[in-house]
Amino acid sequence: EFSFTEQDIDPKKVVLDALETNLASNWSRKYTAEPHLAGTNYGLVKWTEEKFAEYGFDTTIDPYEIYVSYPNDHDLNLVNSSGDVIYKAPLKEDELKKDPTTKGNDTIPTFLGYAANGNVTAEYVYANYGTREDFDTLKENNVNVTGKIVIVRYGKIFRGLKVKFAQDNGAIGVLLYSDPGDDHGITPANGYKQYPHGPARQESSVQRGSVQFLGGIGSAPGDPTTPGYPSKPGAERQDPHASIGKIPALPISYREVKPILAKLNGQGKKIKGFEGELEGFKYYTGPNSNYTLNLYNDQIYNITTMWNVYGEIKGEKTDEVIIIGNHRDAWIKGGAGDPNSGSAVLLEVARALGELKKAGYKFKRTIVLHSYDGEEYGLLGSTEQGEFFADKYQREVIAYLNLDVAVSGKHFKLGSSPVLNKILLEIAKELVYPEEGVGSLYDHYVKAKGGEHIPTLGSGSDYTVYLEHLGIPSVDLGFQEGKEDPVYHYHSNYDSYYWISEFADKGFVYHNLAAKYLALLTLGISERELINFGLQDYSKGLLSYLNTTISRVPKEWLSKPIKLQECYDWSDSVYISKVTNGYYAPDRPHGTRSMMMKYTSNLKNKHTLETVIDHAFENLHSLHNSTLSFDAQTAYLQEKFEEPNQPFWQKIRLHYQIKYHNKYLQYFERNFLHSKGLHERPWFKHIIFASGRYTGYAGQNLPGLNEAIEDEDFDRFVRWLKIVSKTAKRVSKRLHN
Ligand code: GLU
Ligand code: CA
Ligand code: ZN
Ligand code: ZN
Repeated sequence: EFSFTEQDIDPKKVVLDALETNLASNWSRKYTAEPHLAGTNYGLVKWTEEKFAEYGFDTTIDPYEIYVSYPNDHDLNLVNSSGDVIYKAPLKEDELKKDPTTKGNDTIPTFLGYAANGNVTAEYVYANYGTREDFDTLKENNVNVTGKIVIVRYGKIFRGLKVKFAQDNGAIGVLLYSDPGDDHGITPANGYKQYPHGPARQESSVQRGSVQFLGGIGSAPGDPTTPGYPSKPGAERQDPHASIGKIPALPISYREVKPILAKLNGQGKKIKGFEGELEGFKYYTGPNSNYTLNLYNDQIYNITTMWNVYGEIKGEKTDEVIIIGNHRDAWIKGGAGDPNSGSAVLLEVARALGELKKAGYKFKRTIVLHSYDGEEYGLLGSTEQGEFFADKYQREVIAYLNLDVAVSGKHFKLGSSPVLNKILLEIAKELVYPEEGVGSLYDHYVKAKGGEHIPTLGSGSDYTVYLEHLGIPSVDLGFQEGKEDPVYHYHSNYDSYYWISEFADKGFVYHNLAAKYLALLTLGISERELINFGLQDYSKGLLSYLNTTISRVPKEWLSKPIKLQECYDWSDSVYISKVTNGYYAPDRPHGTRSMMMKYTSNLKNKHTLETVIDHAFENLHSLHNSTLSFDAQTAYLQEKFEEPNQPFWQKIRLHYQIKYHNKYLQYFERNFLHSKGLHERPWFKHIIFASGRYTGYAGQNLPGLNEAIEDEDFDRFVRWLKIVSKTAKRVSKRLHN
């Protein structure tokens, strides 16, 4: 076992050499040639498996049985007071001569996944972005949406929550459309030509998408009939309506919505902040009692098979695994940006790692590739397998690296768990940004961001189950469109091979850069002896999230006394990583009775929230100090490991020290899981990172605390403060031992 052989292969050089050849356009063309809606196109499943195998990975196809909806029929009519249909929306995107993907009879209809079936006729109201605040604003302005069809524009929050809030407010149907005002000025009104003649949005383009309640109160990602457990054959099924809606909804283009919204001019209220840039619409809320809409949505709901594809190269350490994942399914025939720019990059990374394996290189850690089905409907493939392999993943996975839209523009975007911040920035320094004079990818990133800041994750892609359910450090990365880049036709037929190769990424240069970055990142995590995490960035982040949170606490809360029973919630417990000979097991705190005695005798009702806050900060500072010395120890051990000519006994001792140390790094983030989950969202277990319950996409740091402030629930705030504070204290202590 103790051979300690040195390899004379430089892994980084081998993968970078392999990626001097750029095959991304081949893979992009292949994935975008046929429709591949979730649960369809087994050909691409097999083909993906064959490519993984060709590059030296051991492959598996992993099926799940998932409740899902497919488009059948739809209709949208504008009706006047005499009952005449005065406008019938085509509900179809234009065929474009220049873009072959948009032609033929195999394009996928415009529809919204999981929108309820229904045929409703009612007056209609414009509700801006359809956020919770927008519906409150309407109420304050005495605009009633009960019994109405609501029209909302895309933007700001996840679309499914727009439908949820409309439903919660009594609406009976929803239309979602893309307003030119949200195209950052790249509009025909500003002189830009429409795709394919220019960078502006094509007027018939429609954003499809899921209207599942991603991150919303009561919801869970994945199959809506199996929250928290895998959709394997025979799984017990629940009522899906905690996670999907009951009112019909359709997506439409701005060309289609124009004649409909024009009828609201001068009707109802004109509200500040509700204005977009749709020509001919003055952004009145309506309704107009002379006009109704007839909205008809019919989909086929059933349980269908979805297929994930996995590829694995076993490393020396089979209990330390890195997963790189990307979804394969798309709303449209193409999907060149979403998700298949990611799929092309994934195959390029596979090819490069395959070259390394072929050269005889032995990987230190195990590297696994995942190609998910059904992300688009609600993170289906990733969530179901995450639920199925939960124990294994919590024991083995070090990090999850996500690719979704790897390229839709030229701006490098990162989102991450802070333990990975250090290595993410380091790797960016090793690559040159393709534009003249910019310098490295790192230079590009810090210039655009105004610093090294890496945002934390929310939701909306396949990392969600790993980070927010399983406590596994995760990264999401890609090149996105900036203000000056062509408009991205997200979830529209125009997200095609023609668009990506002619508009977004001529020469597939950014695909290639993404592949190089991800390949180096993977090696950076897998091949160093000490796991390449920086814990101090995590504890520093935690301190800053707490600071921000405390600044939101109502002043009058601070001097409120804390009642004894609020000091420690006995039913709450925190997962603790237990490291025994490298084995991880989540367990519950022990010795609780004596701890309770101590708490009770110390408190004597003299404590106010302010003292509890002070105490929490003390614990977080102590955690920060522990992480500083822990990181120093990591660096010291790595240095020791690299020392030449060590005597054999020293190598053996170091081997065990490092093994032990690595387990702490591997399980560090697991400590921040709370077994009971968040308030009214038990599936979400992470106490620091969650998707926002009113935003879906945008994350909420320290969700327990911030939601309690939002809900003006003092007792719940105290309880969550205790949970966060005690967790910090325990982790700090553990790092010391
Ligand atoms: N990426 C998908 C979207 O934004 C995720 C869908 C979901 O999680 O429901 O539409
Ligand atoms: Ca499930
Ligand atoms: Zn996607
Ligand atoms: Zn998508």
